[in-house]
This record gives sequence, structure tokens and C-alpha cells, in this order.
Amino acid sequence: MRLVAEVLKALEGPIYIATHVDPDGDAIGSSLGLYRALKALGKEAYWVAEPPRFLRFLAKEEEYAPPLEKLPPGATLVALDAADPSRVVGAPVEGFVINIDHHGTNPRFGQLAVVEPTKAATAQMVKELIDLLGVPWTEELATPVLTGIVTDTGNFRFANTTPEVLRVAAELLSYGVRLSEITDRLQYRPPVYYQGLGAVLSTLRLHFGGLLVTAHLPEDVDIPEEDSDGFVGVIRYVEGSLVAVYLRRKGEGIKVSIRSRGGVSAQNIALKLGGGGHVPAAGATLEGLGLEEAYERVLEAVAEELRRAGYL
Ligand code: AMP
Ligand code: MN
Ligand code: MN
Repeated sequence: MRLVAEVLKALEGPIYIATHVDPDGDAIGSSLGLYRALKALGKEAYWVAEPPRFLRFLAKEEEYAPPLEKLPPGATLVALDAADPSRVVGAPVEGFVINIDHHGTNPRFGQLAVVEPTKAATAQMVKELIDLLGVPWTEELATPVLTGIVTDTGNFRFANTTPEVLRVAAELLSYGVRLSEITDRLQYRPPVYYQGLGAVLSTLRLHFGGLLVTAHLPEDVDIPEEDSDGFVGVIRYVEGSLVAVYLRRKGEGIKVSIRSRGGVSAQNIALKLGGGGHVPAAGATLEGLGLEEAYERVLEAVAEELRRAGYL
């Protein structure tokens, strides 16, 4: 990370900051935090991101830059929280690329890649980077960074909540972040979310004697992707389940969110489906498949992983 800080400080050309498709709190928080830090350093920086509605409160209108197809000569791209170059949105992955991420499946793309799977969030890595850049901490800077940590640790509930994470969070809090307001705002959803949740829950099914729980968004339920992405977080707590999989249509394919516990790896399942992610939380998009075929592929992949872990 020290090298990344040195390179960023020395750069004179424009710096484009981008993150992954369907951005979550860590994607938006880490990229907005770095953008604000680079602006504070007087750099020519652009934040190319489109936050979902529930994260839009974090940024001001004038901070967004429109997506671009080509980077100007001499530009640098910083990709944050993007497990794969194909997941970067808003800017092409070309020219000088700095890749900062915490997904173990990251292929270490880019000219400079810092991938730290032991970190709870990319935002935790950005916290360290901002310290190394020497930018003084303010509430404006600390808020998106803490938001990234809060979301990727599930409000400090997941196994990635280490003593170090809590120390970093405590420090960020001391810069004036209004944590309770943020965690409240992060959970705001439009009425259609709750209507969609009802439809999703009506598809709930158990497999392998209850070890796997699945649900999908019925094709006739029309709710925005950003409002229907989080349902896996509800079904993952079905008692007795070790794996939860939530499926929904995305373009010509089926997007799959996977969560696991008890020595079962969501990451292994996602890799078998052509995706990636973390051990307890991962995802994939099955291109060109219908829902029924996607279910079949998911059941096969989960069965294989349950066998590997000794449950079947
Ligand atoms: P999600 O289920 O979309 O919340 O994703 C869970 C985790 O897996 C997140 O850290 C994502 O960044 C990661 N992930 C989701 N889909 C993919 C994919 N197709 N390739 C690599 N990582 C993914
Ligand atoms: Mn993310
Ligand atoms: Mn993340």
C-alpha cells in the first residue's frame, strides 16, 4: 500500500476512480473516500460511480463523474473492491491500472495490485491508504470509509469483524461520523422492496434435508435491481441451513447470490458457477440460462461443495 500511496502522490495526470457493477456500500464507500482524499491533495480526480438509491445520500451531486468509454492519455484508473476486471463499471480497464481489493479470487489484474483477503472491506484498505497519503481526517472523509466497513461486516456481525476492524472503526467514529444515522439510512428501502420480499419469500425452498435454502425473484415481479439485490441477507438465516442462494434475472442471464457457514464455502460454489467472492459470501451471473437451468446448475454446485465439506 505504501507504493500505491507514493505512486498516487507522484501522479500528475488525471486519476479515475471506479468500482464494481451493482455497487454495494463498500464499493461506494471505498471509492468515494479515496476520491475525496485525492481531491483534498489537490489531484485531478474523477469518481465514476452510480450509487444505488440507498447509498446516494453519501455523495453530493457534483462529485459524480459520468461514465466514459476511453481514458485520456496519461490517465490512471484506480479500481476498488472489483474482484475481476470484467466487474469494473464506468471506465475501461486500460492504461495504468491500480487494483485495490480484498476478494481472494481477484486475479491481481492491473500494473499495481494490492489484494488483501484478510481485510474486512476495501474501505479498510482505503483507511490505511489515506493515512499513508497524509490527508487529514474529517467527517466527510471518514463517513464513506466507515460506511464501507459497516456494510461489508454486516454492521460488525460477520466473522471478518476483527479487533483491528473495531479499532479502525472507533478511530473513524472519532472524526465525527454519525454512525446511527448512517446505519438507519442504509436500511431505507422503498415500499416496492417489501412487496418484492413477500414475492421472494413465497418461492422459498429447502434442499438436501434443509442444508440449502433457495429463493428467487418471480419473473413477473418488477422491482429495480438495486432494491432486489439484498434478499439473500434475509433467507440466509433459515434455521438449519448452511447455504443460502438467491436467484434473479439479470439481462440474458441469472444473477446468483450465495451465502454460507459451517465450513461450507460460498466462494467454491461461486467459482464452479463462473463467479467469485469471499468464502462466506460470493456470487455469479449465469449467462444465457433460464431460471430452471440456473437452479439445476446451482444445486449441482452446492451438492459438490456439501460433499467436499463432508455434509453429504
Ligand atoms: P453479492 O451476492 O452480489 O452481494 O456478492 C457477494 C460477494 O461476491 C461480493 O463481495 C461480490 O463482490 C462478490 N461477487 C458477486 N458476484 C461476483 C462475480 N460474478 N465475480 C466475482 N465476485 C463476485
Ligand atoms: Mn463489494
Ligand atoms: Mn468489499
